[in-house]
Amino acid sequence: MSFLVFSEDRELAFQLLGKARELADKMGSEVAALAAGSDPMEYVSQGADKVYTVSGLGGFNVEPYGAAVVEAVKAANPSTVFMGATKRGKELAPRVASSLGVGCMNDCSGVELEEGKIVVERLTYGGSTVAKETSTSTPTVISFPPRCFEKLEPVERTGEVVELELDLPEPRVKVVESREKPKSTADLESASIIVSAGRGFKAKEDLRLLEEIAEILDAQIGCTRPISADLGWMDQWVGISGKKVKPSLYVACGVSGTIQHVAGIRDSQIIVSINSDERASIHGISDYSLVGDIYEVLPALTKALRERA
Ligand SMILES: Cc1cc2nc3c(=O)[nH]c(=O)nc-3n(C[C@H](O)[C@H](O)[C@H](O)COP(=O)(O)OP(=O)(O)OC[C@H]3O[C@@H](n4cnc5c(N)ncnc54)[C@H](O)[C@@H]3O)c2cc1C
Repeated sequence: MSFLVFSEDRELAFQLLGKARELADKMGSEVAALAAGSDPMEYVSQGADKVYTVSGLGGFNVEPYGAAVVEAVKAANPSTVFMGATKRGKELAPRVASSLGVGCMNDCSGVELEEGKIVVERLTYGGSTVAKETSTSTPTVISFPPRCFEKLEPVERTGEVVELELDLPEPRVKVVESREKPKSTADLESASIIVSAGRGFKAKEDLRLLEEIAEILDAQIGCTRPISADLGWMDQWVGISGKKVKPSLYVACGVSGTIQHVAGIRDSQIIVSINSDERASIHGISDYSLVGDIYEVLPALTKALRERA
């Protein structure tokens, strides 16, 4: 059983390498990686035995990147391909699997060896159930979002670097403009503290209550889907169809705690809920529940935190 790891997101690639290394060591097997535009020796220090490089990949485009991953799979001949389930990776992984004619398990949350087989965990039924799945094809393509696994401490190791030669296909999409996302919502997946707004907020201007407390806590601001997709107050949301987050502290303000939202926050270390309805299901999954009106609780909390600071 051997592994090939690829993500266009370098940090995520290292996290996947950490897990692949752990599993490979249990099986006495090898880990290869495809490095896209980064120093291949970094991948070696993060656990890869062999690193493939492809020149001319440039910025992300699914056709050339897909061709490069397929070529790396052919060269490495792994039994399992770990890919990053970023927005781009979730598009790339099924394409790679389809080109190879093999199975794909996208957006998994965990993986272990069971009786010599790779078994993954995935959230199903809107996040209410964790399914264990295994594949009947070899290789199998499996993708994981950021922060499912820890990257290893880099160590000095020896590894082989192999340049792959291939004619990259022309991308069929032309990027006409790129714009950076606003900082406040750009880093939810890697944020260590998140304060989040639900429909308990009555007007967009009221989000300043959240901004004030976020500033003191050095937190990122998240929200539920209706706040983003229906009301358009923010550009992305937390949950099964949005960002899956893993902060040390998640403060849900005026959030009811439906299963679709909870699926995205269940890996938070500490969840605090502020909701005026004592029967709101968010209280049931919180470590600390405040039954109260966000319009009273948030200013009071902000004041108390300011005084302590
Ligand atoms: C296929 C699908 C995918 C979905 N994916 C997601 C997803 O990824 N993420 C997501 O968030 N949702 C998702 N949803 C929507 C989800 O089902 C819920 O509708 C949504 O999460 C509810 O958002 P909310 O908690 O902001 O609003 P509500 O459910 O309306 O809850 C508002 C809460 O605020 C409380 N409240 C009201 N006023 C105050 C006050 N002044 N002070 C304190 N508390 C107050 C209320 O008691 C209530 O509990 C999805 C739905 C579907 C069908």
